Amino acid sequence: MIIRIKDKIKNLNIVIGCPIGCRYCYARNNCRRFHITEVFSKPEFYENKLRLFNTKEPRVFLLTGMSDLAYWKKEWLEKVLKKAEETPRNIYLFLTKRPELLDIYTELDNVWFGVTITCAAERNRADLLKRNVKAKHYHLTFEPLSDEVGEIDLDDIDWVVIGTETGNCKGKISTKKSWAKGLAKQAMSKNIPVFMKEDLFGILDEEEMTQQFPKEFKL
Ligand code: SF4
Repeated sequence: MIIRIKDKIKNLNIVIGCPIGCRYCYARNNCRRFHITEVFSKPEFYENKLRLFNTKEPRVFLLTGMSDLAYWKKEWLEKVLKKAEETPRNIYLFLTKRPELLDIYTELDNVWFGVTITCAAERNRADLLKRNVKAKHYHLTFEPLSDEVGEIDLDDIDWVVIGTETGNCKGKISTKKSWAKGLAKQAMSKNIPVFMKEDLFGILDEEEMTQQFPKEFKL
């Protein structure tokens, strides 16, 4: 059975807005459609959502589903990390496409920092992340892919997610089977859990889909 990642990892969009302007950004489209923010390129912090960190059961949250960590204000991240420290049963995931702008140090065991890599030219994002963010856990997301990423430095990486572009955005590029399988093979050879998102089903056969979560997620 194919697992949908959103059934396991909840989006908690505590910051909404991002100036990067990716062609395929669904968050920008949703913000326009549902009038969530005035100007999507100006991130806003929804501090009242910190109460949602107080869960009864342990949860894994993605905090950057509608933003990029690099454009969070320092005080926003400080408040979020303080709340993460108070709720160690939960895991909090962050993603960025601009690791060169970050300067973070944390000893928290329940916060995971990641970069999105969409092509071979962005491979160095993994190293920039590890250089600029000193944390206990790192993850990589390869989505949407526009070419073959090739050999990647996976040292200290704890989770790899692979996906494809969805929707009907102009210029849409689907992940090729060989690109996804090549990345998964590299990660699995280092015993790194790999999660192929549900949208890859169809590009890959069910028996070729790998859907693993890190043991720390307890999912
Ligand atoms: S980085 Fe994410 S939130 Fe920002 S524009 Fe790109 S897809 Fe949208």
